[in-house]
Amino acid sequence: MNQQLDCIIQGNIVLTDKVIAGEVGVKDGKIVSISEGTGKLQADHVKSFGESFVFPGIIDVHVHCFSNPDEGFITTTSSAAAGGITTFLDMPYDLPNPINNVEQFKKKVEKLEKEAVVDVCLWGTISKTGGTDQIIPLAEAGAVAFKMSTFETDEYRFPRIPDPEILKAMKLIEQTGLRAAFHSENDEIIVDMIDTYQKEGKVYPKAHNETRPPLTETSAVLKLMEFAYWTKVKLHIVHVSHPRTIDLIQQFKEQGVNVSCETCYPYLLLDVEDLDKFGPIAKNNPPLREKEEVQGLWNHIEEGNIDLVSSDHAPWGAEHKARGNDNIFLASSGLPGEEVMTPLMFDSTVAKGRLTANEFANLMSTHPAEVFSIPGKGRISEGYDADFTIIDPNQKTLIDQESFRSYSKLTPFNGQELNGKIVSTILRGEEVYDGHDVKKEPGYGKFVPGSAAK
Ligand SMILES: [Zn+2]
Repeated sequence: MNQQLDCIIQGNIVLTDKVIAGEVGVKDGKIVSISEGTGKLQADHVKSFGESFVFPGIIDVHVHCFSNPDEGFITTTSSAAAGGITTFLDMPYDLPNPINNVEQFKKKVEKLEKEAVVDVCLWGTISKTGGTDQIIPLAEAGAVAFKMSTFETDEYRFPRIPDPEILKAMKLIEQTGLRAAFHSENDEIIVDMIDTYQKEGKVYPKAHNETRPPLTETSAVLKLMEFAYWTKVKLHIVHVSHPRTIDLIQQFKEQGVNVSCETCYPYLLLDVEDLDKFGPIAKNNPPLREKEEVQGLWNHIEEGNIDLVSSDHAPWGAEHKARGNDNIFLASSGLPGEEVMTPLMFDSTVAKGRLTANEFANLMSTHPAEVFSIPGKGRISEGYDADFTIIDPNQKTLIDQESFRSYSKLTPFNGQELNGKIVSTILRGEEVYDGHDVKKEPGYGKFVPGSAAK
């Protein structure tokens, strides 16, 4: 009567609108049945997780594997598996060569298929000028979306794209149906302020916050939303750090602009006093904000105005951060996130009663899959990939940076004890992490092409 399944997962199953104590049947890496209670399904293997939450596999849309060549796919994807992340979207700002043409893109896909432990989508980008002819070919090669910046981190690898090129790019990206995403900060004001601060010898940690005031983010986002209004491109604003940015996004959404946004876990869990306390290891772009501003972001999370939360995983080693010990401006920007984002976000939302398990699943899995049109991911539903992140709310997690699988072993959260523990990460029906060890070899993870792939 019942078809023989490969495996059954039992626990508190987090569906899109409710949580059921039940079981999910898996066959050939896909979800084939879901039922309330246990004992109705038959399979070769049964994995019972008791009272634990069975979430759809967490999706991190914002990861930088190759900003530091010492990192790469093996360490980041292993770190992701241990952090409950079943799929991530890798940014295109690779050293030495960014992913701004099809040749580089295809090389990266080959590498990914040899080295990844979890599933990976790849972002594309364009060169500073004259590179928009690569947009359609990159979309057809399987880029999941396009990332650009209004701030110049590096002239070649991570350039500020001039307005005429942004307009050309938006028109072409609109044709692909993919999303145009932006690092949105006003380059001229920031460069000028940093220059003045350095001349005056003001190089203390908080100077990083003071030289990137909120208007450098809000004004950059405003311009992009107006461009999106006229070009009709789907827009995505990465790493929003300030609640006013979300207010403005809400206004443009009401005017019919298709604009989504994310914030990253550090903007919710740290503030500018942590930049003062931890120095370079709490330096990211945009910077950490004031306490009241962080509370403003939480209000937006609770009202459902922020589509998703990402990590902006940046794998800098101690050497990259130590450069900023005497001058904050010399330190690399960004924090590692693959291993800590999910436990930190669970602890600060579901464990505290701030969000329901369903709201957590929406922020961390369903919305990321919907915003970036990732087929087969983001929900526990028949026909979807059997990707699950299983969290026991009754166990604790101790953050120990020395144990990170990432090259980066520096986090301001080191030593924190959190409520909830990832007890298993399951990707396409198979366990990639069992609560202690990564169980799959590099090569198990797959390339997931974007929705415009041909
Ligand atoms: Zn980033």
